[in-house]
Amino acid sequence: METVGIGSTIESLRAGLRGTAYAAGEEGYDEATRAWNLNARQEPAVVVMAEGAVDVMAAVRFARDIGVGVGVMATGHGVGEPCDGGVLVNTSRMRGVRVDPVARTARVEAGALWTDVIPEAQAHGLAGLVGSSSHVGVVGYTMGGGFGWLGRRYGLNAASVVEADVVTADGELLRVSADEHPELFWGLGGGGGNFGIVTSLEFRLYPLTTVYGGNVFYPIERAREILELYSRWSADLPDEMTTAVTFLNVPPLPDIPEPLRGGSFVVVRGCYSGAPEDGEEVFRPVREGIGDPVMDTFGVMPVAAMDAISMDPVDPIGAVQHSEMLRDLSPGAIEALVEVAGPDSGSPLIMLEVRQLGGALARVPDRLSPMGGGKARYIMNGVGATFTPEMAAGVRAHLARVNEATREHQTGETYVNFMELDAAGEDRVRAAYPPEDFERLVALKDRHDPENLFRFNRNIAPTGVTG
Ligand SMILES: Cc1cc2nc3c(=O)[nH]c(=O)nc-3n(C[C@H](O)[C@H](O)[C@H](O)COP(=O)(O)OP(=O)(O)OC[C@H]3O[C@@H](n4cnc5c(N)ncnc54)[C@H](O)[C@@H]3O)c2cc1C
Repeated sequence: METVGIGSTIESLRAGLRGTAYAAGEEGYDEATRAWNLNARQEPAVVVMAEGAVDVMAAVRFARDIGVGVGVMATGHGVGEPCDGGVLVNTSRMRGVRVDPVARTARVEAGALWTDVIPEAQAHGLAGLVGSSSHVGVVGYTMGGGFGWLGRRYGLNAASVVEADVVTADGELLRVSADEHPELFWGLGGGGGNFGIVTSLEFRLYPLTTVYGGNVFYPIERAREILELYSRWSADLPDEMTTAVTFLNVPPLPDIPEPLRGGSFVVVRGCYSGAPEDGEEVFRPVREGIGDPVMDTFGVMPVAAMDAISMDPVDPIGAVQHSEMLRDLSPGAIEALVEVAGPDSGSPLIMLEVRQLGGALARVPDRLSPMGGGKARYIMNGVGATFTPEMAAGVRAHLARVNEATREHQTGETYVNFMELDAAGEDRVRAAYPPEDFERLVALKDRHDPENLFRFNRNIAPTGVTG
């Protein structure tokens, strides 16, 4: 990366930072730009390791001075467009969390993970709306909507936000809430980081310490039968129950116990957030309707142990994903899923998951929806690990096959947080929003970021600028 031209100014940038900054080629640069998803390689001109809001303001002003765009990364779980040639703000040193047990809110700094929030909140019997993995960054997750195993009961975390501090494209720090800059507040709740860098976020917590949840594993050969039962069962569940049906190819790793190690399964997974005994009752039709599972882990678990439901990888990994929203789990949709992920599919994916929507995930009046107009009852997400270029090609080809086979069951909507790396063009981003919301987002972008400074994301380009 060419650093000539910024050499003199980077010294003045550094001098004003509490944290530090690295230009391409300098020691520290590689580590500071490395993303959790190892496929998300970024080559910014400069990366700023921010220690606070003032560093973020300095980074934005510096980017304006040298005429480049700005990207932001907390963990690198969800890099959209790599920040090549821009100024990357790395927020991983900003992990402060403060819980207010009376107001039932948490305030987090830009780089906090859900693992930072959970113990602070649980100490007061409170829970936040964490996703399937607590190692994801809270702010990035919330900028794209954010839902997990409490989703059908409490909704998107974006809809629980009450206030944010935001560094805007002109390098100013604004406090944003329903009362202050209300239009910007609306756009932040699912606008994918297009309007500024959030340095501090406050959101609601909910009284909850235990859930009833887990996985039942069945042999992949029984996929059709399991999907048919799951489709009937999930059609009529209370909002306290959030569920998914998942095809899993479990890697043959030594730390994975038998009989799961190296096997292929279809799994019914779920989480009930009401009284545990009611959860057991709601789950009974699955347990009694389909006998002989390979393993059944459903039971009462602490909120702090909910990562065990999805078993997502924790350590960095190269991964490729593709997601589509499904109208329904009709017999035709089930047939298509069995064809591309069932026993004879040759699927190289680690996982093809169909999560149930509805309940509190349906559109909330006055809040932005980052998962389309609400036509879908399920969201499908396929993920493959890519340790070699050949594996990556195989995974991409198979995801294209999944996409093709399920096309007639798709609504055409997308979800910001499950969008693919580096290939989500304008149409995919537009499809994440109801048309009238997308127009409103473009108007907001025109007002707050007319030059598209914040372009390394699921980009909503301002009028007259290509993304
Ligand atoms: C293993 C795994 C499990 C997941 N599970 C779920 C799930 O259950 N539910 C769900 O909804 N999503 C889930 N996701 C998606 C995840 O929420 C997104 O990838 C999210 O963007 C990750 O945020 P991050 O900060 O960790 O990632 P980063 O890659 O650091 O950031 C991603 C993007 O978030 C935005 N952003 C980050 N910080 C800021 C900031 N301070 N201000 C403004 N914008 C910012 C930027 O656009 C940035 O490019 C999962 C992803 C993975 C890899």
